[in-house]
Amino acid sequence: MSDALESGDKVEVQWKGTTFSGMFISKDEKITVIKLQNGYNLSLENVSISSINLISKYSPKNVVRGNMTGKGKHVFLLGTGGTIASYVDYETGAVKPARTAQEMLYAQPDLARVASVDAEIILNILSEDMKKSDWINIAKKVFEKINQKEGVVITHGTDTLSFTSSALSFLIENPEAPIVITASQRSPDRPSSDAFFNLTGAVKVAQSDLGEVGVVMHSSTSDDILDIHSGVRLRKMHSSRRDAFKSVNSEPIGTVDGNLDIHWKKYEKVNGKPTKLYDKISEKVGLLYFYPGLSEEIFNKFAETNDGIILAGTGLGHISNRFLSQVKDYTDDGKIIGITTQCLYGEVNLEVYTTGRNMLDAGVIPLHDMLPEVAYTKLSFLLGNFDHDTARNLLAKNLRGELSERRTE
Ligand code: ASP
Repeated sequence: MSDALESGDKVEVQWKGTTFSGMFISKDEKITVIKLQNGYNLSLENVSISSINLISKYSPKNVVRGNMTGKGKHVFLLGTGGTIASYVDYETGAVKPARTAQEMLYAQPDLARVASVDAEIILNILSEDMKKSDWINIAKKVFEKINQKEGVVITHGTDTLSFTSSALSFLIENPEAPIVITASQRSPDRPSSDAFFNLTGAVKVAQSDLGEVGVVMHSSTSDDILDIHSGVRLRKMHSSRRDAFKSVNSEPIGTVDGNLDIHWKKYEKVNGKPTKLYDKISEKVGLLYFYPGLSEEIFNKFAETNDGIILAGTGLGHISNRFLSQVKDYTDDGKIIGITTQCLYGEVNLEVYTTGRNMLDAGVIPLHDMLPEVAYTKLSFLLGNFDHDTARNLLAKNLRGELSERRTE
């Protein structure tokens, strides 16, 4: 019978007179592996197995929802994919995304120490495949939960996490419960995985009074402290280290220590004002990194297809003077160009060099110390939900803590 079993089927295995119930994972010539309810994998030698009974087939019904009863305030876990949601496939040794919410929870048995969790998988993708419409779907689901005053943890890939965190920051105003995003650089099957600490810390933050989007990730390379970043102020600064995420142009809003105690710095608390969901986003906003050699043709193509452009300029926020007449034509047409800096740290200042002054004359909007991806999600949100004039007026105004209107350093 076990030959017909598929990974995910519920089974009962008789082994040396003991019955084990769990989820079938794999079977080779020597060993059968099942996953127990508590999340642990059990490897049993085939010679000692007297029977394997199928209890129920793996069913698509289980794909999206699961739950786990534990101690502490209830939290909703929304899976979108990425390394944190993956598990090892014992047949191939490859790391695969968890197919079911229950699989995702099974891989994280420690969560029961801190919370009861309902989990749902809304997406199962690597974050480089995330689309703007996905941000809207995530925002709608999160809004539904926080309206019931339930803290939400979103698991996500690390690569484009800061895009999603800032998109959610704009799309949901005055959240009535915490919205927390976490991820991992190393998958949960690896001894050095950061998934467990990040996720458990994120769940603790989702039980707090946080009233903004927070991102919880390792602060150092050891498992001793997590940073809580504002969703509009962070960047993945390293391709592989566990402490890859840093707050840029601001401090983390808090930390979580090894005992899972939270130490807040400056953060927004739930404020009791009604939560508002903005459920639209403009697809006609682009983000362009300026570089020496950028051709006018490329710029024109880009301009033709977008109603708004965020430029990541050099230094204080410059682009070559060669583009000024095109930029002027574009803004004269009522379209919007905002400028940020590739330097990331510090703010743009178009008053220092002639280039900057010419850019101002051509209608470019300087965006202070806002990160390029944050400016990009912000303009996409603004043009999706407001008319052009309002969008232009709000772009350089601080809405969610995404910019400091005046910096001193
Ligand atoms: N490329 C992956 C992603 O962003 C890496 C990760 O999961 O962290 O989804």
